[in-house]
Amino acid sequence: MEPVMTVNLSRLIQTMKESAKIGAIPGGGLRRLSLSVEDKAMRDLLREWMIDAGLQVRLDDFGNMYGRREGRNKDASVVMVGSHLDTQPEGGIYDGILGVLSALEVIRVLNENDIETERSIEIVNFTNEEGARFEPPMLGSGGVAGIFSENYVRERKDQEGKLYGEELENIGYAGTPENRAQNIYRFLELHIEQGPILEEQKISVGAVEGVQGMNWLEVIVSGDPGHAGTVPLNHRKDALMSAAKMALAIQHIAKETDEFAKVTIGRMQLKPGSTNCIPHEVVFSIDIRHPNDDIRERVVELVRERISTIALLDGIDIQIKDLWEIKSTLFSEDIVQLVQQGAKEHGYTCRVMMSGAGHDAKYIHHIAPSGMVFVPSVNGKSHCKEELTHWEDVEKGANVLLYVVQNLANKEDSDLYEC
Ligand SMILES: [Zn+2]
Repeated sequence: MEPVMTVNLSRLIQTMKESAKIGAIPGGGLRRLSLSVEDKAMRDLLREWMIDAGLQVRLDDFGNMYGRREGRNKDASVVMVGSHLDTQPEGGIYDGILGVLSALEVIRVLNENDIETERSIEIVNFTNEEGARFEPPMLGSGGVAGIFSENYVRERKDQEGKLYGEELENIGYAGTPENRAQNIYRFLELHIEQGPILEEQKISVGAVEGVQGMNWLEVIVSGDPGHAGTVPLNHRKDALMSAAKMALAIQHIAKETDEFAKVTIGRMQLKPGSTNCIPHEVVFSIDIRHPNDDIRERVVELVRERISTIALLDGIDIQIKDLWEIKSTLFSEDIVQLVQQGAKEHGYTCRVMMSGAGHDAKYIHHIAPSGMVFVPSVNGKSHCKEELTHWEDVEKGANVLLYVVQNLANKEDSDLYEC
């Protein structure tokens, strides 16, 4: 094994700062929705960087971008490393981006040190991880993993009714099915934690053992329309008032369950949405998560029961749709160990932990053993412009990523131990 190599932090910072310009919003965050003009501009830049690094660039039919660095054994399964470059409407500059650009940095370090690897290494940018423009999230990685069909993905619509497939063609990033990720030995994703645990415990690196499961529901509450000034309160069927009771009840259920249950109402629309009209329809989303699938399913059951009862008591109609469900995942044990080993080699503090958020690695794990490296998020913030990871932590995470990639890329098939 070669001596422990390190990334070039100033080059990585420079690369991250170039990315932070594309879709920049006032106050320091990013708005780079999937398949938007900003996404295209970032993809163009990544493509240029990949070509400069000598990578063979290809696109698949979901718009996922790959850059391949050939190994000594061209037929061996590849080590894939990456994440996503799209963001939330008011997202930060690290989420996903750090994973793709650190992967690029790994390649640059290997190149400048003339390091050959046994296996080929592919870096990847998955399309629409965030789900902010096209629901559900992780459409690119889910497509590759066979979770979603090509048609299903192409027909996803944004809020304006624009189709994923058409928007992908409009920005010029539609590739072919033959180019999808395949023959993957291991997949690795560096990501910000997006929670407060590492920072609170003063730990630099998280070796992620798995991802908790989640459900997305959509609730449509239908009451009666009317004039805000003329209809007495006791004559109303105000959809928002019922939805408000539901929101409080949902939070109560999670709190009663245990400290790990999380529920969020992140989206709510009122109709007609006018100051002097009684809201006659409210549509809202519910995101429910728990590391334990049985408990999560129980929370979903309780939520359904409780909000249906509220609707019944208020005499209004309710419709509950299941938008999406995903069970918890346990990652590849050998990668968890390698991440810990990499941290130890560098003298960094490290802990094993679950991920609260969904990630591309979760889907890729369906087709290849996968794993993740977490770095601390200041105040646990993400999906907002306050998202911050200190550069010293970025450096540590990227160094561990380099260690693990290099190690995996030199493993021969006989070294393979199953997860
Ligand atoms: Zn992300």
